[in-house]
Amino acid sequence: MLEPAISLVLTKLKEIRDSQERQPRVSRDTLLRFVETRLQGSQLAPGKSELLELLNSRVSSCTKCPHLARSRTQTVFGVGNPDAELMFIGEAPGADEDARGEPFVGRAGQLLTRIIETMGLTRSDVYIANILKCRPDMPKGVSGNRPPTPEEMQTCISYLLEQVRIIQPRVIVALGVTAVEGLLGVRRTMRELRGRWHSFNDTPLMITYHPSYLLRNAMLSEKRKVWEDMLAVLEHLEKPISEKQRKYFLSAND
Ligand code: URA
Repeated sequence: MLEPAISLVLTKLKEIRDSQERQPRVSRDTLLRFVETRLQGSQLAPGKSELLELLNSRVSSCTKCPHLARSRTQTVFGVGNPDAELMFIGEAPGADEDARGEPFVGRAGQLLTRIIETMGLTRSDVYIANILKCRPDMPKGVSGNRPPTPEEMQTCISYLLEQVRIIQPRVIVALGVTAVEGLLGVRRTMRELRGRWHSFNDTPLMITYHPSYLLRNAMLSEKRKVWEDMLAVLEHLEKPISEKQRKYFLSAND
């Protein structure tokens, strides 16, 4: 769908080039913004996939945090259904995600995938993204991951806002207190935040533990807390819930 619009812009630029002594100069970023605006105003209304693709190209060349642009292997934009009713938001890519270019693919990601599947959904039914699109850098020779700083999250949040605006999910799930800080700008404990609905730009927001917390605390009571949050999400989305699903993580057999 983008092809005719891009050809139009390129033809126009060629015309300008041929009719002027000075060569027109335009950055890739400006060109993409231009195409996006033109498409929005035309009958060739772009679909959500195209808008996400355009945004992804801006993200992939972003250098707003020079230290992260230098250290990343690639940006990690987001994955899933552009029409998703449900969106999961984490804090930032780790080493595995930086290597693969996809959010939540490491150990915590595999647990998130299991949670989604236990809800009766798949990764391609939902949309998964992070506040930060770059892996937070680590000192040379130091392995592991670090959480993003408030400044890094503030710098990057506009991309996530655009993703949410394009996808328009019916429910957002924030994973962990750092993601909540990035979204709402408040630092609170999970005890203060969990167990009730919040709102993010008018979209119902459920806050739950980050899957990496469950990897560190494998107690049934903690799994049940996350599961109760997911049951509330399923109810909000009017999805069928089986008796078996309702009872998950109430007994040691789960
Ligand atoms: N943790 C996150 O918050 N996001 C990822 O993509 C992976 C781990």
